[in-house]
Amino acid sequence: MKYNFYAGPAILPKEVMKEAAEAVVEFKGMGFSLLEISHRSKEFIAVMDEACALVKELLHVPDDYEVLFLGGGASLQFAMAPMNLLDESMKAAYTDTGTWASKAIKDGKLYGKVDVIASSKDANYSYIPKGYDIDLSYRYLHVTSNNTIFGTQYKSFPETTVPLVCDMSSDIFSRTIDVSKFDLIYAGAQKNMGPAGTTLVIVKKSALGKVSRPIPAMMDYLNHIEAGSMYNTPPVFPVFVSMLTLRWIKENGGVSAIQKKNEEKADALYNEIERNPYFYTPTALEDRSNMNVCFLLHNKEKEKQFLDACKIAGCAGLEGHRSVGGFRASIYNAMTLEGVNVLIDVMKDFEKLNG
Ligand SMILES: *Cc1c(COP(=O)(O)O)cnc(C)c1O
Repeated sequence: MKYNFYAGPAILPKEVMKEAAEAVVEFKGMGFSLLEISHRSKEFIAVMDEACALVKELLHVPDDYEVLFLGGGASLQFAMAPMNLLDESMKAAYTDTGTWASKAIKDGKLYGKVDVIASSKDANYSYIPKGYDIDLSYRYLHVTSNNTIFGTQYKSFPETTVPLVCDMSSDIFSRTIDVSKFDLIYAGAQKNMGPAGTTLVIVKKSALGKVSRPIPAMMDYLNHIEAGSMYNTPPVFPVFVSMLTLRWIKENGGVSAIQKKNEEKADALYNEIERNPYFYTPTALEDRSNMNVCFLLHNKEKEKQFLDACKIAGCAGLEGHRSVGGFRASIYNAMTLEGVNVLIDVMKDFEKLNG
């Protein structure tokens, strides 16, 4: 048995992969693969419609929001969001909580005034900043809900009437959210939803069409809304697999049931990190991510020994990101508690072997 702890592209439910593979060979008895039919065929339009409907249902998206599946990755949204929401004369607030947040800030500055109103860079992004003022004149506040690389997560979003814009790439559908607080949510598929190649966007329609700059057609949310995410050829396979994953979430009790499982998995792993004298985590207790668990060995020289033991147990993808070092266990929705327990057993055995 193999257990996938990769950070992204990442684990997907086995059932989803099987059904996706079948659709690649032949889709819906059409005599063709999903990959060789028109995106305007009624069969594919049904896929897109179901994917959007499932997003709305699972996240309780209010009626005045639109759901889009776009290309370009979450990184394109770093520019596309401010291009559509922020005029040169306006100001937006950003929090700097990691690598992805700082990339969003960099692109945001191209389209308006950007204030970084809080940052945890001084402590290598090991916590989520709190207790800062948010001026009500900001057009929006951009936050990164889960910091995939540093293993921190907003447990609650900033309390403000300023609309939020949020990069939820690595924790979308992992927990319930109140969509009405956000003007825009975006998430690359490849962490918790599907293969790389599509990005989910949930946008409040009334937030659009208010900037004066010309927007290239492909960068204009309004064009994609009008065309039902088919302004150009959409990433058909990533959208299809995302739809299957959303079905899987629904069959498994919806987002709140998934959230409970995610909390159980994360609690089990963090408890072992706390208990085991050989390991520690650099992240602040109250901000620890339930998706990406970063941890280190007190004795760095034993890193290879631990990774080898993980490998033998079938646990893959645990090397930490170079900016934190040590290890990172990504335990997205499709990771089972059983898989997490296999990793915990490797940690316990490591303690015994070295004790
Ligand atoms: C992976 C990731 C991104 C980048 O996603 P791409 O689809 O590769 O552009 C952005 N933000 C967060 C939080 C991520 O985890």
